[in-house]
Amino acid sequence: MSLDHSPDPFAAALAAMTEAALPGAEAVLPHGPRAHDAASAPICQSASFLFDDYSQIAEVFAGRSDRYVYSRGNNPTVREFESLIARMEGAEAARGFASGMAAIAASTIPFLKAGDRVVAPRNLYSDAFRLFETLLSRYGVTTTYVDGTDAAAMEAAIPGAALVYLESPTSWAFELQDIPRIAAAAKAAGALSVMDNSWATPLFCNPLALGVDIVVHAASKYLSGHSDVIGGVAAGRKDLIAAIDHLGMHLLGGRMSPLDAWLTLRGLQTLPLRMRAHMEGGLRVAEALSRDARIARVMHPARDPAHAAKGLRGHGGLFAFELAPGLPPQVFCDALRQVRLGVSWGGSESLIIPAKAALDLAGANNVFRRFGTSAQCMRLAVGLESPDLLIADLLAALSTAEAAA
Ligand SMILES: *Cc1c(COP(=O)(O)O)cnc(C)c1O
Repeated sequence: MSLDHSPDPFAAALAAMTEAALPGAEAVLPHGPRAHDAASAPICQSASFLFDDYSQIAEVFAGRSDRYVYSRGNNPTVREFESLIARMEGAEAARGFASGMAAIAASTIPFLKAGDRVVAPRNLYSDAFRLFETLLSRYGVTTTYVDGTDAAAMEAAIPGAALVYLESPTSWAFELQDIPRIAAAAKAAGALSVMDNSWATPLFCNPLALGVDIVVHAASKYLSGHSDVIGGVAAGRKDLIAAIDHLGMHLLGGRMSPLDAWLTLRGLQTLPLRMRAHMEGGLRVAEALSRDARIARVMHPARDPAHAAKGLRGHGGLFAFELAPGLPPQVFCDALRQVRLGVSWGGSESLIIPAKAALDLAGANNVFRRFGTSAQCMRLAVGLESPDLLIADLLAALSTAEAAA
């Protein structure tokens, strides 16, 4: 394997960051008065809501009034979260879900039927891949996987597809798709486009403004931001959200809980501050690793010179790198002190996952095997700790791994 230490773009991205007008906190503060003029959103922990009389219940059931009825449908705390996300994504409406996967399932299944085809980039999120390959395939839905960095190949695959599923950057490989171009191709072909925007957050990418139909997030990651929520959200035009309500929300039933909506609303208040720190920390750690001869490759969207044209205004702190051939991943992982081993990302603590273990993940349709993730690959979520501390920890672990090679 040739070591790739070509001109590193991280210093440029860091310099651009200080000039860039990063979004301010006003972007994430809910608007409008609350009950009792509460400064913080009340947690409305109620499954059911009461009616005054028969005519009120009849009006609601007939769809002529939108009072709260039952929290699998709507709940005041969840609705406050949804309004805020809709505003941040420039959407007409949004719906909160019990997980990112529930949001993805509810935003794809209602729009697919037997015989339909999905187009998706390779290296997509592991469980989105398994949703298409293991579950939807049983119902006669097929999926074509394309090198998402090749916009012409994506365009060529779209005609005849019912749904174009995007995730930019992709998980582990961090490959960007040209969102404006691919969304236009989907529109021209009459295909619905859905994009997972968890990595960039609404602060650094707004898929709907780039032509995508539905944007989804794992609220478990940056939106909530403290590793204490499993949640998701989908946002888009009213007619699409109505279709999601009808089938994806009521029938699949994976609705967000009031407490998770409240925790995510609380987390969102600091999203601009956290994203600035994740971006800076991620770029600084990526820069340090890319300069080290013991690292074969760094996979980070800042390396794509066209990242801005593809729709990205800033960077999350999650990226991947490959240890040089011969360095044992297990020794490297076990030598880390500050960076902890763990799945997920988006919280304040830095977490790492070795691909070598993910390649052995039990069960069918392992995305890492399917798209050939290197066993030397590590996915690193840079948290909110001092970047210098993280760099020192990673370099020390590299030395330990090198001594063991
Ligand atoms: C974690 C993740 C999801 C799924 O979110 P859950 O809340 O765990 O279901 C979806 N997409 C991406 C990119 C993720 O990292």
